[in-house]
Amino acid sequence: TGIYHSLHQLGENFQIPTRHDIDITTYVLSQFPHPDHAQTKVALIDLATNLQVNYTQLHRSIRALASGLYNGLGVRKGDVVFLLSQNSILYPVICLAIFSIGAILSPANPVNTKSEISKQIQDSGAKLVISAPEELHKLLEIGVPTLITARELNGDSLSVEELIEYSDPLELPQVGITQSDNAAILYSSGTTGTSKGVILTHSNFIAVMTLLRWSVFATSSQNDIFLCFIPIFHIYGLAFFGLGLFCAGITTVLMQRFDFQAMLDAVQAYKINNIPAVPPVILGLVKNGSKVECDLSSLRRVGSGAAPLSKELSDEFRRKFPWVELRQGYGLTESCAAATFFISDEQAKKHPASCGRLVPTFSAKIVDTETGSALPPGRKGELWLKSPTIMKGYLGNEAATAATIDPDGWLKTGDMGYLDEDGFLHIVDRIKELIKHNGYQVAPAELEAILLGHPQVLDAAVIPVEDEEAGQIPMAYVVRAAGSELNEEQVIQFVANQVAPYKKVRRVGFISAIPKSAAGKILRKELVSHSQQVTSKL
Ligand code: AMP
Repeated sequence: TGIYHSLHQLGENFQIPTRHDIDITTYVLSQFPHPDHAQTKVALIDLATNLQVNYTQLHRSIRALASGLYNGLGVRKGDVVFLLSQNSILYPVICLAIFSIGAILSPANPVNTKSEISKQIQDSGAKLVISAPEELHKLLEIGVPTLITARELNGDSLSVEELIEYSDPLELPQVGITQSDNAAILYSSGTTGTSKGVILTHSNFIAVMTLLRWSVFATSSQNDIFLCFIPIFHIYGLAFFGLGLFCAGITTVLMQRFDFQAMLDAVQAYKINNIPAVPPVILGLVKNGSKVECDLSSLRRVGSGAAPLSKELSDEFRRKFPWVELRQGYGLTESCAAATFFISDEQAKKHPASCGRLVPTFSAKIVDTETGSALPPGRKGELWLKSPTIMKGYLGNEAATAATIDPDGWLKTGDMGYLDEDGFLHIVDRIKELIKHNGYQVAPAELEAILLGHPQVLDAAVIPVEDEEAGQIPMAYVVRAAGSELNEEQVIQFVANQVAPYKKVRRVGFISAIPKSAAGKILRKELVSHSQQVTSKL
C-alpha cells in the first residue's frame, strides 16, 4: 500500500491515555516520582545559580502559579499567553501552569525584534504577556495588553515569582479541559510563505509525552542527567525539557542559552550523561574536541535534531568521542514530536546517514510529487506523516492547513527523502522554501517582503546557501531599480535592521530578473544552482 508503520511497540505500560477529559498538566503530574521520593529527586538545576528544584517543589510551583494566573490575573480557558524568555527554571513551570487552566501558550524567541514580537502577539490574540526582565523594554515600547515579568524586578510590575509565592496551590479552579482543546500556538512557516501559528492540542502533547517517556525507559536510565540548552520556546525544547523528561522523573541541568565552554564545564561539574543537541554543536565538539580540557567521561549520549547531520560529521564525532553514542532524530513543529529516532547505538552506527526509524504511533508515506503516488522502499519523494501528535492546523489559515494536511490526516512535511528496506529514514533535500540557520527557521517570504520595501529594490528572492557551521545561510537575489547603485553591504544592513540576528541575509547577488514560473512562482532551484555555480567559480 506504500504506507510504512512504526516497527516499535509502546507496550502495556506506555499507552496513550484515551479518556478525553485529561489535560497535559494532569498527565505530567501523574507521572512525577511517587510523593515519597519526589522531595529527594531533583527535577531542575539552574546552571547559572546552581539553584535546584525537586519534584515536590516543582509540583507546588505549578499549582500555585496556576492559581495565581486564574484567581489573581483572571486568565481563563482559551486565553492566549505570550511568553518571551530564554530558558530558565521558571519556564517549564509557566508552561505547565498555563496548560492546567486551559489557557494557550504562545512562546517566542527572545531575540526577535519588536515588530516580530508584536506580529505574534497580534496574530495569536494574546491576552497576557509574560516576559523575562531583560526583554521588557521591547514590550513596553510596543505596548501590550497585560504584562508581567518572569523574575522579580525592582519596580511595580508583577512577577511570576511573586504569583508563585503568594498564591494558594490548593485554590485551583475546575476548568473542564478536554484533550481536543488547544494548548499551544508555536510559529512555523511550514512549506511556503511566512510564519503561521501551529495549533497543538492537549492530545498532541499527551501523546508526545507518552512517547518520550517510553523512549527514555527504552533507551536511557532514569538516573541519567540531561543538559538543556535547546531553547524551550522551540518544539524540540518544549517537548523534551518543558514537559517530556518530567514524565520520566529525570534531572535536567538548564542553561539559559547555548555557550560552548559553559556546556563543557557543565558536563564535568554535573557529570552530564545526555545532551540533546543540534548539528552546529556536534561540529563544535568535533572541531575543538582535542583542545577540550574538561572531563567528558560521564557523557553517554548526544542527540542531533532540527537540521541534517551529515554522515561525515557523524563519523568524525564517533572517532573523536568513541565512548559517546550519537543519535539523530527528525521532526518538525507541525508534528509536535520527533517522528523518527534510533532505539539503539548499533542501529545508529550502522546507518550514520539516517535519522532513524519511525517512532511508535507514526506512519509514513513517501509520495512522488509529480504523480501523487506512494513509493516503495529506496525511492525518493516527499515525506508524509500521520500520528496522534500531528498539529490541528494553522491558526486562522484554512488554505494553508488544507494545503499541508490532506483529508486523510497526512501531514506533508516538505522534506524529500526515502525509507530503506529496513525502515530507516534518509532525508536528502528540503523541497519547501524554509531555510534553517543553526536549527532556527528563516522564512524566505518574510525576508523577500522586507527587501521589496526598499525603494531601490524592484524584485527579490531569498534562497539557502549551504554553510559548514550554521547549516545554511540566507542569500538574497536582488533586482535593482534603474540607475541604483545599491551594494551588498547596504542590502545586508537594510534587512538586519528589521529582523532577529539569526534571520539576517548574509550574502547578496544582483541579477537582472528573478526567474519565475508562468504562474509567477519564484523558481528557487534555478537560483540555488546559480549560486552554486558562482561559488564554484570563486
Ligand atoms: P522546525 O519546525 O523548526 O522543527 O523545523 C523542521 C524542519 O527542520 C524539518 O521539516 C526539516 O526540514 C528540518 N529537520 C529537522 N530535523 C532534521 C533532520 N534530522 N535531518 C534533516 N532535516 C531536519
